[in-house]
Amino acid sequence: MRGLIVKMVLTVTRWRWVKWLFTRTRVGRRVALRFVAGDTIDEAVVAVRRLNAAGMSVSLDHLGEHVEDAAAAEGARDAYLACLDRIAVDRLDANISVKLTQLGMGFDDALCARSLDALVRRAAGAGTTVTIDMEESAHTTTTLRLYAEAQRTHGNLGLAIQAYLRRTPGDLAGVLSLGGHIRLCKGAYDEPEAIAVRTREEVDAAYDALLRTLMAAESVKPAVATHDEKRIVVAEELALTRTAPWEFQMLYGIRTRLQEDLVADGYAMRVYVPYGDSWYPYLTRRIAERPANVWFFFRALVGR
Ligand SMILES: Cc1cc2nc3c(=O)[nH]c(=O)nc-3n(C[C@H](O)[C@H](O)[C@H](O)COP(=O)(O)OP(=O)(O)OC[C@H]3O[C@@H](n4cnc5c(N)ncnc54)[C@H](O)[C@@H]3O)c2cc1C
Repeated sequence: MRGLIVKMVLTVTRWRWVKWLFTRTRVGRRVALRFVAGDTIDEAVVAVRRLNAAGMSVSLDHLGEHVEDAAAAEGARDAYLACLDRIAVDRLDANISVKLTQLGMGFDDALCARSLDALVRRAAGAGTTVTIDMEESAHTTTTLRLYAEAQRTHGNLGLAIQAYLRRTPGDLAGVLSLGGHIRLCKGAYDEPEAIAVRTREEVDAAYDALLRTLMAAESVKPAVATHDEKRIVVAEELALTRTAPWEFQMLYGIRTRLQEDLVADGYAMRVYVPYGDSWYPYLTRRIAERPANVWFFFRALVGR
């Protein structure tokens, strides 16, 4: 059922008039602003400062993915370099999260690797780290390879892994020795059953099993990326015997009270803050995770 809903939402939101409704109307923009800090780095910095003041660190995502030419890939790299400079100058408690298809992975993997290298060096100079988001399964193997190469050279990276992919236990075993931070999420894309579990129960069971491995590994810093209270309880229990650092991660605008409560309980929390004008694909995934978000749109449409 969960897989079907994700597939349906991700299909419908590709229709041209639906995209128009979200991206070209004031209401669509208002819905997006629930999940996105704004179009500009200045707006993102306002959100970062507020979250830092509330005791949370941040991962900044300059929105964009699947760029189709070198100029766009280099533009994305430059936007991230500027973001890292801003983190340094404004002394923000933040790192960056990057989608490699935004840096050219898929059409020029060498360009992507060079740009990643530039970002990781700049991040090191700013005293921070780079997390690589995990995208559709067609890119998993290349993402793992580029992560491993950069992490072996620089040591200040992290990687997102997706619980729903059947291959992930093996992938996790392969990256544990590299150190870094490993963000465990459920997975946000529409993947076929042959390679991914699709029911909520199966995804949750896979998540808990991976979490157990991750929290037992002192070589890496686990990032427990979920808003699911049952998974949070599992993490809290596993953390009782852990001595090395770890953190919770949640998305900007989602379960903000829970974010605050966990900080009040003494847990480390990092909020993933997206910004930039290419927010539509990100928004469609947030709707697919929770189709009730469509009602938020219709309520805004009728002004309630
Ligand atoms: C910090 C972070 C980074 C991520 N990075 C990646 C990545 O690199 N690759 C990837 O594939 N996925 C990524 N994701 C998304 C992730 O895979 C899930 O799709 C998403 O987090 C929803 O799953 P959940 O664990 O919160 O559990 P769910 O069971 O889906 O949600 C639990 C509860 O959280 C709330 N909730 C969850 N999603 C929403 C929403 N969209 N709107 C409103 N409420 C919501 C609801 O109350 C829901 O009942 C990331 C998630 C986080 C938190």
